[in-house]
Amino acid sequence: MKENIVKKMPEYSRKIGVSFEFFPPKNPDAIRSLWLNIKRLEPLDPKFISVTYGAGGSTRENTHNLVKEIQIKTKLNPAAHLTCIGSSRVEIEKIADDYWNTGIKHIVALRGDEPKILPKIKGDFQYATELIEVLKKRHDFEITVSAYPEMHPDSSSMENEYDVLKKKIDLGATKAITQFFFDSRYYIEFIEGAIKRGIKIPIVPGILPVTNCQKTIEFAKKMNCKMPKWLVKMFEGLDSEPETRKLVAATIVYDQCRELISNGIEDFHFYTLNRADLSFAICHILGIRTLKD
Ligand code: FAD
Repeated sequence: MKENIVKKMPEYSRKIGVSFEFFPPKNPDAIRSLWLNIKRLEPLDPKFISVTYGAGGSTRENTHNLVKEIQIKTKLNPAAHLTCIGSSRVEIEKIADDYWNTGIKHIVALRGDEPKILPKIKGDFQYATELIEVLKKRHDFEITVSAYPEMHPDSSSMENEYDVLKKKIDLGATKAITQFFFDSRYYIEFIEGAIKRGIKIPIVPGILPVTNCQKTIEFAKKMNCKMPKWLVKMFEGLDSEPETRKLVAATIVYDQCRELISNGIEDFHFYTLNRADLSFAICHILGIRTLKD
């Protein structure tokens, strides 16, 4: 096992902290289900919960509305994902003002991806760094950014990855969340590289509980994340066994979190896919108790 890296990262607390990511639901049933899931995870006292931002007008509206609703209806700290590709500066400034004025002061600032379907809209932004610049000029937002332990598919080298992260920090980012990964060595090496380069902000591992292996294989390929053979093997023969797949997923994520904890990591960001059960169970096994316990 590698040397405990937390000693070199004083920003990490000694207590395990979690955050949860949701996406805006698309229909009334999904909205009802999402709220049940949010309510289930709320007592775990997450540091924040974040809401993703999709391409297209109505999807974007849904993000704004959901974040504002969470702010009003719960005691949770919501963070709004915001992507800039295809947007104008004026549009982004308007969204920023709207969030700031409703008390939403934490933005997960991202570039996003160009939509696959035409027409492509030419916007004022090329990179997340430009978005951070605009947001910070407008208001003193807390800015969280992305990081890619296995390298973003558009990046030319790992060094480029660190340079971009450093640039984001210089512009005011105070935390990064990683793309999901399954082989923790990539994350640990990434953190060690960041420490060597003087990067001091917390780089929180993005944890994806896998329940649909085939879908995840396709997604991981696009995102440049390696799917270990052992992981694929664990789901073999379980296509029609959703409940067993959940148990397998919990085991895999628990092992992953334990390995990270043994390397000194104490903050985790769960990609919940709008389902609380797995994240709740994993948090429970990790010793995180609800506020009423
Ligand atoms: P950037 O950080 O801008 O990087 C994109 C590429 O450009 C990289 O190759 C980088 O090396 C390069 N680059 C960046 N800045 C510069 C610069 N100044 N000069 C030269 N090169 C540069 N997508 C969504 O659509 N909605 C979401 O809500 C969403 N949430 C996400 C949350 C997390 C935690 C993560 C990790 C990803 C999320 N994504 C989301 C996906 C993300 O939008 C894509 O991965 C996208 O391709 C890159 O966005 P980015 O902000 O990481 O890009």
